[in-house]
Amino acid sequence: TPPPGSPRGKTASELGINEDALVPVHDATVDDLIKAKIHEAELSGEESAFFVGDLSDVYSAVKKWKQSPLGDRVEIFYAVKCNPSPVVLHLLSLMGTSFDCASVAEINTVLSLPSAPSPDRIIFANPCKPVSFIRAAANSGVEMMTFDNADELHKIARSHRGAKLVLRILTDDSKSLCRLGLKFGAPLSTCAGLIKLAKQLGLDVIGVSFHVGSGCKDPMQFADAVWRAKQVFEMGKAEGYRFTFLDVGGGFEAVVFDEMSKVLRDSLEVYFPVAEGVRVVAEPGRFLVAPAFTLATSIIARRKALEEESVEDVQMVEKVEGEGADVMYYINDGVYSAFNCIMFDHQIVHPYPLTIGQDVERAIPRLAGPPPPNVHLAQDLTVTMGYKDTERASVWGPTCDSIDCVRNLVHLPRGIQVGDWLGWGEMGAYTMCAASSFNGMPIAPSHFTTGGQGEDSREVRRILDSFVAY
Ligand code: PLP
Repeated sequence: TPPPGSPRGKTASELGINEDALVPVHDATVDDLIKAKIHEAELSGEESAFFVGDLSDVYSAVKKWKQSPLGDRVEIFYAVKCNPSPVVLHLLSLMGTSFDCASVAEINTVLSLPSAPSPDRIIFANPCKPVSFIRAAANSGVEMMTFDNADELHKIARSHRGAKLVLRILTDDSKSLCRLGLKFGAPLSTCAGLIKLAKQLGLDVIGVSFHVGSGCKDPMQFADAVWRAKQVFEMGKAEGYRFTFLDVGGGFEAVVFDEMSKVLRDSLEVYFPVAEGVRVVAEPGRFLVAPAFTLATSIIARRKALEEESVEDVQMVEKVEGEGADVMYYINDGVYSAFNCIMFDHQIVHPYPLTIGQDVERAIPRLAGPPPPNVHLAQDLTVTMGYKDTERASVWGPTCDSIDCVRNLVHLPRGIQVGDWLGWGEMGAYTMCAASSFNGMPIAPSHFTTGGQGEDSREVRRILDSFVAY
């Protein structure tokens, strides 16, 4: 409810505001907030998994972008699909970020933020949309949208004649974790025909977009994609259009960001020099939110792993790389929920004990950032943390399905018991947004903090506090 004497005198629901964006944000460190939540869980007897989101990591990523070679040229349209937490969207909106939405629900989420941006700060970047979505976007005032096929042009001509269209082209995504080109993007050979059709239908095509694939490991993919975009700008010119908009999509990875941002900036300078006045935007998702979320899970069951001799008669248990786990841990989140990133986003997740023998003081500190790329998977903890007294474990989700395996082999410290907690870093991208409650399992809630320490945390607190919601 609004504070007494609020000038508008209305409640959040009367104003159509999404109050989830205004949940309390703590000022603790991530480790302290996790400890406090574990303590609360122990007192209440409720051991459900939970996320802790550190908003200073989101702030730092935006800052890193702005200070990079892309900073003064490429605007951010955050890909909402990656992590649609209203608190994150609210902070990004307050920081002046725009948004890439894939559905009407995402558009509505963004437009109902207390800090809602104007609809021209949204691009509907889904090249294959139901007609009802196109109509709803028109009603919400969202004009920019992508297309990559003739039918989409006919649908838009029928339902949103004022749309500002962006032709999504196919680029090489063979070096990326998630190859979006399998599903979207017009090959260069079809672009001239599509632009001609758009002209015949009297539609306003403003430019080109591409996506080099999510989890892109090769910065050179951007150079090739920008060159292709330039070819399509020329096709537009031949048809009488003057394109003014280039959307370089997502795919940015923290580990290669420095090189990637240089490659992209250099390609833009060659093919789209500033003097030509083309507006350049990007749709980063993972880069802005992956490091910001840590998941805490509790161990709900433990079993001695099956030994080969004991299953001789069954002959069904496969050994992994000749090694088997000695112990099997069952945790209260799995591949049907937050860890769907293992299936859909091809991630390998790395646990660290938050408690050992129910003792938080024996916990092992969080890895700062992603583990080094060459760490042997079975050895990640021992190698990266220098921890010696370990045993080979497998980690399983809570459902009754055996596909629900979170790690099939990982070294964890000896002495972990039922009731202990495991933490998982780098869990902000493509996790909670695709979680299901299969088997009736609860979906982990999120708690938020400014991070509590340092300049960026103080800046987040200042930004949040300077906003008056009602
Ligand atoms: N833009 C579009 C159209 C996408 O489909 C995606 C991811 O699937 C993104 C942006 C975000 O990509 P990333 O998280 O790799 O930056």
